Amino acid sequence: MAKLGRELSAKGIDVINLSFGEPDFFTPEDVKEAAKKAIDDNFSYYTPVSGYPDLRKAIVKKLKDENGLDYEADDIVVSTGAKQSLANVVMCLVNPGDEVIVPTPYWVSYSEMIKLAEGESVFINATVENNFKITPEELEAAITPKTKLFMFSSPCNPTGSVYSKDELEGLVRVFEKHPNIFIISDEIYEHINFGEGHTSIASFDSVKDRVIIINGFSKAYAMTGWRVGYSVSSREIAKACDKLQGQITSGTSSISQRAALAAYNAGLNSVEDMRTEFKKRRDLVYGLLKEIPGIQVNLPEGAFYFFPEVKSYFGKSYNGLTIYSAEDLSLYLLNEAHVSTVTGEAFGNADCIRISYAAAEEQLIKAMKQIEAALAKLN
Ligand code: PMP
Repeated sequence: MAKLGRELSAKGIDVINLSFGEPDFFTPEDVKEAAKKAIDDNFSYYTPVSGYPDLRKAIVKKLKDENGLDYEADDIVVSTGAKQSLANVVMCLVNPGDEVIVPTPYWVSYSEMIKLAEGESVFINATVENNFKITPEELEAAITPKTKLFMFSSPCNPTGSVYSKDELEGLVRVFEKHPNIFIISDEIYEHINFGEGHTSIASFDSVKDRVIIINGFSKAYAMTGWRVGYSVSSREIAKACDKLQGQITSGTSSISQRAALAAYNAGLNSVEDMRTEFKKRRDLVYGLLKEIPGIQVNLPEGAFYFFPEVKSYFGKSYNGLTIYSAEDLSLYLLNEAHVSTVTGEAFGNADCIRISYAAAEEQLIKAMKQIEAALAKLN
């Protein structure tokens, strides 16, 4: 989609890009200053594989202050982004033939990482009617003696869904009956949450020692390109991740780690500003999207995405072109509405498309109008 969008732009067509998976904000100034200082202070040598000790200590403090969780620095492995942390854990835990339960829609890389580890993904299909969240009964039904791991994000990419404390507790009750299952809790969108606030599944003592929290700096501090993420886990898993990472990438960039430390030391002001702006945009886009006939949409509580169901358009045509799938619709919207989105197939749901609202308000309004006009032509 990005490539096709660029091709259209090269022809002079004004394409509104709503396919981005990153905040459209700049990295906070004090974080940038810390990186510049790190260069001048000669932070230019190899870093410890698991990250600088002071950064890991700052992460321990963050977990205590923001999440009420007790960990030690040796439970943290800093990496080259949450993506690497996820891959570290999947590679360390999943053996060939192990089953990994993944609620759909899921973030694109989960299923691919499981494939790389020669595990089997077992999907639980969540739908818009249930705010794209699974129930304890559905979880229970998916568990087999081969289940090794459960993997989810909350707030979720691509749906923006957030599991409440009560909903997590329902899942925890199931995990209590199955003590051998590990849980990856991807919390990278933790701070882009418009509801009652973030609860980590690690705050339930009965499962804490088998939860691996994944987090990082990409979304909360608009630092996607800096490449800093981390895992928080039992010591045994942390040691395994350290060993694996040590043979593949070593410690992540020295400059980025100094910047990440400054981000945690700076507190949450910039994060609050970003969240306020995202909430305004969410409300705006929700108002416009739900007025479009044939689109079924829920109100996401976090992240910066909508995941509307568009299957009512399948089988409809315009100008000799028939829409058979979400991918067709996404392409149609690019060509006809000049708005780029992402097809739901990539996230394990072929009835939906993902619309990111990491764009300026006037762009969002224009995009929704253009989408509405393009869809109205289909019959
Ligand atoms: N998890 C989810 C749910 C994501 O959306 C992303 C980024 N799009 C990541 C992990 C990876 O984050 P990072 O940039 O820190 O590797």
